[in-house]
Amino acid sequence: MDQVKIREYDKNKNPFRLFGAHVAAVGEGIKHAIKPKTITLRYPDVSMTLPTNYRGMIRLYKDVCIGCSLCAMICPADAMKMTTWEGKKLPQINYGRCVFCGFCVDVCPVDALRETRVHDAAFQSRRELVFNPDKFNQDFDQTLPVKGTVRKVRAVIDENKGIRYVPDE
Ligand code: SF4
Ligand code: SF4
Repeated sequence: MDQVKIREYDKNKNPFRLFGAHVAAVGEGIKHAIKPKTITLRYPDVSMTLPTNYRGMIRLYKDVCIGCSLCAMICPADAMKMTTWEGKKLPQINYGRCVFCGFCVDVCPVDALRETRVHDAAFQSRRELVFNPDKFNQDFDQTLPVKGTVRKVRAVIDENKGIRYVPDE
């Protein structure tokens, strides 16, 4: 240990300094209890408007797919697998494994995979996360979003709070 580190170590062992640090931590806790600076949202009542290029669930256009398997080969998470469906080779996806990297969309030579703007679909079991080619072929934007009143907000940078949410009209 060099001299600087030893001095730093001794300073941290000083009981007054430690006590002061504890008091400061408790003070910080009280401050947040009285006037919380929350940066989380009360999802799903409130949800953030995401940028238009934010990657959502992927949709297959099975009539366009040529069954080349490139999407399954490139998938780093082993989420995409080829299957034989109605006599044709088509991909199916396991959303329990997908990391939304978008490699499969980029590699598809015929644009048979596209990213949708669905980011918050909910499922009741892991089995439901496996989309066979028919389920993978659906119009997610119409079928999967959670129904109900969701208050949309967007994040803005605030000098004091760091981040603040304002209604997104
Ligand atoms: S987005 Fe990435 S992880 Fe998900 S299926 Fe495509 S290649 Fe695999
Ligand atoms: S890369 Fe495209 S064309 Fe090839 S199997 Fe996947 S979805 Fe079909």
